Amino acid sequence: MDWRDGGLCLREDPDLFFPIGNITSGPTALQIDEAKAVCSRCPVARQCLSWAVGAGSVEGIWGGTTEGERRSMRRRAMRRQAQAAA
Ligand code: SF4
Repeated sequence: MDWRDGGLCLREDPDLFFPIGNITSGPTALQIDEAKAVCSRCPVARQCLSWAVGAGSVEGIWGGTTEGERRSMRRRAMRRQAQAAA
């Protein structure tokens, strides 16, 4: 069984996880909060986030994070790796 089969988002409108517009305010921000609330209860959230971070640039809410938040996570991980190698 693939981890995706356990995702709570399978029971939701897929559009909820792909917000369009200004993600910092208004209806889009509320939509993101709603999607993240689903992710916060999801039993496969850790696997989902790990996949999304590793996959690179992926649109939408995955593992309770936005694309921008995952980009920041990747940058922090790269900085830690560079510091460890120095
Ligand atoms: S963490 Fe969120 S996006 Fe990932 S499978 Fe669960 S509900 Fe879906």
